[in-house]
Amino acid sequence: MAAITRVLGPVTEATLVGTTRITPPDCDEVRRIRLRVDDPGFHFSAGQLIGVIVPGSKLTGRRFHTRRYSIASGASPGDGRVAEFDLLVRRCFAVVDGGGRRPGLVSHYLCDAAVGEPIAISGPFPSPFRVPDRDDANLIMIGTGTGVAAFRGLIQDIYARKTGWKGQVRLYYGAHTGMDLLYRNEETDDLANYYDRQSFKAFRALMSKPPESDRDLLEPAIRSNAQEIWELMQDGRTHVFLAGLHRIADAFEDLMHEAAMSASVWNETRAWMQQDGRWSEMVYS
Ligand SMILES: Cc1cc2nc3c(=O)[nH]c(=O)nc-3n(C[C@H](O)[C@H](O)[C@H](O)COP(=O)(O)OP(=O)(O)OC[C@H]3O[C@@H](n4cnc5c(N)ncnc54)[C@H](O)[C@@H]3O)c2cc1C
Repeated sequence: MAAITRVLGPVTEATLVGTTRITPPDCDEVRRIRLRVDDPGFHFSAGQLIGVIVPGSKLTGRRFHTRRYSIASGASPGDGRVAEFDLLVRRCFAVVDGGGRRPGLVSHYLCDAAVGEPIAISGPFPSPFRVPDRDDANLIMIGTGTGVAAFRGLIQDIYARKTGWKGQVRLYYGAHTGMDLLYRNEETDDLANYYDRQSFKAFRALMSKPPESDRDLLEPAIRSNAQEIWELMQDGRTHVFLAGLHRIADAFEDLMHEAAMSASVWNETRAWMQQDGRWSEMVYS
């Protein structure tokens, strides 16, 4: 740990206290990994990120490897209690020259780790996603793949508030990674906790054929609700959150462009939301 700290700055030791595969065997593996930090001074907010640091090897020629992951839980208790939080980690593979693939370094380390193992983490780090202060804000969350992890934390947070969330909450998601099954598998269907909330609606993109792109993934869920999304966007209390892989922001823009029926009206609306700090993106490749 001391060697890592010298190179990377402050590092916290977490303990892995739970690891569950949340996708069926015939889908890509996504695991819910629960970490505990035995330091009551460790705090995080919904939407933040942490760094995971794993040892390097002679093979990679690196001492450490670090990757960022969204905290997929609501805010830490902040009352002196020990903090626990979830990560939703997809077991990734990298394509290598010649067409083969090699295991992703950090995701495999995390997915293979056993309960009780120490995990070095850094952060928490800010992300563009934070729960708005006013509880009558409308939230439109659009995500693909592991981007959905960040939304889990935001949703848990707003419905944990004692005052009750008054704004409308809409989640549009799709994934060919199997991440969407997080919300389909009854045992782990934590969205079910919110179905009785009048303000909450979740829309999963259902596909009749394998998707070829992120656009394919999102289009069915968004297109059929485009008018409602567009109308919510006319409300100055509405925030948009975009998360996930590749060209999700472009795909969403194209669909909303159609809903607005005018390039200039769409551009003005988006610019208005951006200026007000009501438009947040976390897009990674
Ligand atoms: C801001 C941010 C938040 C992130 N949040 C999450 C999260 O909550 N959950 C999560 O599982 N990952 C998340 N990631 C991705 C994560 O940081 C790693 O990049 C991923 O786990 C692969 O690392 P690796 O060391 O296993 O793979 P490497 O050894 O680095 O190999 C990388 C390979 O994995 C592919 N890859 C990288 N990320 C993904 C991904 N998310 N989905 C599919 N393929 C990918 C790359 O295209 C490449 O082929 C996030 C990334 C960023 C930048």
